[in-house]
Amino acid sequence: METCEVSIVINHKTTILAKHTKVFFNWHKSFCFSIALIFSINLLIPTTDIFAQDVKKTKRSDKDKTDFDYRKKPWKGNNAFLNEYLQSINYFDNKDKIRYLVPIHFWIYRNNNGTGGAPLSDIGKYIDELNYYNKINKTGFRFYISDIKDINKTKRMILGYYLEAPLQGIFRHKRNAINVHVVDGFKLRKNERKLVRGTYNYLSKSIIMRSENSSTGLSHEIGHYFGLLHPHRNYNKGKNKQEPVSRTRTKGSNETPLCELRGDYLSDTPAEPKLTFLINNDCKFVGGALTDCWGDHYKPKTNNIMSYPSNYYCRDNFTTGQVAVMLYMAASNKYSKHWSTDNKQNIEYAFDKTEPNDYFEMASILKVDTTYTLNFHRILTNKRKNKSDIYDWYKFELKDTDANNISISVNSKDNTQNIEIALYDKNKIQLKNFTGKSNQTIILEYKNLVPDWYFIKVTYNNKHKREKSLKYSLLVNRL
Ligand SMILES: [Zn+2]
Repeated sequence: METCEVSIVINHKTTILAKHTKVFFNWHKSFCFSIALIFSINLLIPTTDIFAQDVKKTKRSDKDKTDFDYRKKPWKGNNAFLNEYLQSINYFDNKDKIRYLVPIHFWIYRNNNGTGGAPLSDIGKYIDELNYYNKINKTGFRFYISDIKDINKTKRMILGYYLEAPLQGIFRHKRNAINVHVVDGFKLRKNERKLVRGTYNYLSKSIIMRSENSSTGLSHEIGHYFGLLHPHRNYNKGKNKQEPVSRTRTKGSNETPLCELRGDYLSDTPAEPKLTFLINNDCKFVGGALTDCWGDHYKPKTNNIMSYPSNYYCRDNFTTGQVAVMLYMAASNKYSKHWSTDNKQNIEYAFDKTEPNDYFEMASILKVDTTYTLNFHRILTNKRKNKSDIYDWYKFELKDTDANNISISVNSKDNTQNIEIALYDKNKIQLKNFTGKSNQTIILEYKNLVPDWYFIKVTYNNKHKREKSLKYSLLVNRL
């Protein structure tokens, strides 16, 4: 059986030696022995790389995290804490409750002339996917776009991984939100050939991700933001650091199971090697011959969002322990009081199911002849004055058989604000607009539309001093 890490050591200086390593490795099939060997190889070769980085040069990876921030976490060596925490917040009584509404501030790196970089439609997709995986795993988190800022600098579109990326994270940072930098790719060291999809910087608490990413890419990085570590952490560091497969294995007179003291400190995420190349197309683990340092065979999950399976489509899961860590970390986050739905005034940040749809490129699909209940929600920003989601974009299709005279109506209960409805064609050319007071039903009619996709922009001309959310209903009718 082909083993993973050693066979893909990339540093050209070690390639030849790696072949020999592989022989030993296949013989031993344990991560203890192989690492000792690689370590000795590295001692022979003058290189500034520490051995861990050599072993980590896998095809897909983001950087392993330093764990200084986590040493004092109360669940380390005491996972019962997490269950108690979940009980204290009544998690098990209402697993579907939305507990935190978290704004995401995007920084998008584009060419000097504003072209290139992640399209707005992709930013909408990142949020949709993030909310999807958080919903199915009942994490209690929902995310919305607080702002999208373009950085028009061609030279930064491919960001230096080791220095430039962390620096951008420090210098471009908005308070009250999770900052996500989206670049085309990362510049690595010469001879490094791994594909980095994203990285979380513990210092600036920023996420820097590649625009072309897996559907769980942002969920993974946000997992780091809320305190999660890789389940394979230190798998290759030998018997003194490796997490054992056994959930009851202890060391010396200490009765605490090692699985709570090592790896990601969570007993409900099984010990695992880095899963790159160890998961087949059916998402089954094919490294059954591999053992930990005590000779126990690995039996990892293959779907954990914090893992590195060969196929990222296998990832869709956070364990209960991971959910607990994220919720605990959110509660101790400095912005917690602005995000928590337990704080009644934060209900103003709640958004409808069609979000994110702030841009033409993110327009959400409407069914004709169906009434939708929607809202313009408040957006938490770094200023005292919050802002509002003031644009909602929708699209609908008129097919051949449809009557081509339509009426678009918007109704809300606020009696002071202006609301504008505008109809656009698929090339973003405005066909007609109408502005009315929000206490009336505002209607825009248009005749003789050819069968095609059409877009609607609803604008909330908000004059409130302290901006509020506004509920409204929307109906596209055929006349
Ligand atoms: Zn990671």
